[in-house]
Amino acid sequence: MAVNPFLTTIAKQHHLKIEEVLFCRLERGHFGLAQKRKGAQIYRILIDKEQLACIYREFFTFFHELAHICLGHLELTGYANDSVKKQLKEGEADLWAWEQMGILDKKGGPKPKYQVCYNCMAMRSPHCLREKGR
Ligand SMILES: [Zn+2]
Ligand SMILES: [Zn+2]
Repeated sequence: MAVNPFLTTIAKQHHLKIEEVLFCRLERGHFGLAQKRKGAQIYRILIDKEQLACIYREFFTFFHELAHICLGHLELTGYANDSVKKQLKEGEADLWAWEQMGILDKKGGPKPKYQVCYNCMAMRSPHCLREKGR
């Protein structure tokens, strides 16, 4: 595990109780994770960079997990068990992340210059979609 000082600084600007952002290996298909320390209001974010094909996905994963902390998703009881509620929160976290990243235009769609990697992020693509067309 390695602390990422850059992302840790950004995280702390959004939420005072975030201790650190770490790069580490996670289970396949788990790109990022927001954790709350047991019995304390202290959080950390884990990111598996190896599974993320482009820089947009890296930042998006970071902001998505940050959203779960800032929007209070980790405090909701029964959250993990209720799949409908969970899906709503995932959508909410995606939107929040894109807003922070300045990806969306006023209509709520991706700005043209971000269109391709918007799809990388939205589809959780295993490869960057800029690199197709061989
Ligand atoms: Zn999520
Ligand atoms: Zn991409």
